This record gives sequence, structure tokens and C-alpha cells, in this order.
Amino acid sequence: MGKSGYTSLSLDEKQYAKIRKRYDQVIAKNTTATFTKNVTELIEKGIERTALVENKFSTFTWVGSTDSGCVIKDKNTIVEVKWVKNELVCSIDGTGCKHCIYAALNPRF
Ligand SMILES: [Zn+2]
Repeated sequence: MGKSGYTSLSLDEKQYAKIRKRYDQVIAKNTTATFTKNVTELIEKGIERTALVENKFSTFTWVGSTDSGCVIKDKNTIVEVKWVKNELVCSIDGTGCKHCIYAALNPRF
């Protein structure tokens, strides 16, 4: 029986351990809220960010992640965006373009 007012969510144990470790390293030190409350909020924000990105960049399709960035399909053009030192660089436009903005705003990036 779960806690009253809550639903239960089963996670893969290895994935949970990975998430918990990164949460403790990145988020926990800057909050007093619980793990459950923070993670739920992050999931909700990630979904809303995905919806926003899909709405604002309707001609782009997420193809996938790479070791140093991601691949995007812009209409019929494949574009790679990757980190070069501390900058996002697009394979078509260089820096500061809409592909870089799309990548930076995308929760999957
Ligand atoms: Zn670009």
C-alpha cells in the first residue's frame, strides 16, 4: 500500500540508481523539497518543454543523441548540433542558429 494521496511508479532498479545518483549530485544540494516532489516536477517540466519545442519548431524532428550532441531533421535536411568546447555548433550554420536553440531547449538533448 502506497502513501495516501500518492500513486506508485515502478522504475527499473538500475535506472533509478542512476537517476538518484545524479539527483543527489545536481539537485539535492540546492533544494529542501523531497526527491519525489522534485522528480515529479522535473518530469512535468520535461513534458511541457517537449510540447513547447514541438510547437515552436514544427518543421524539426528529433532524430537522436550523439556522443557530443544530437541529430535533427529540418524538413528534409539532416543537421547535426554538437558541443565544441563551450559552444553549440550546427553542421549547417555554425553557432547561434535555430538548430542550436532547438537543441538547447530540447529536454532530450
Ligand atoms: Zn543551424
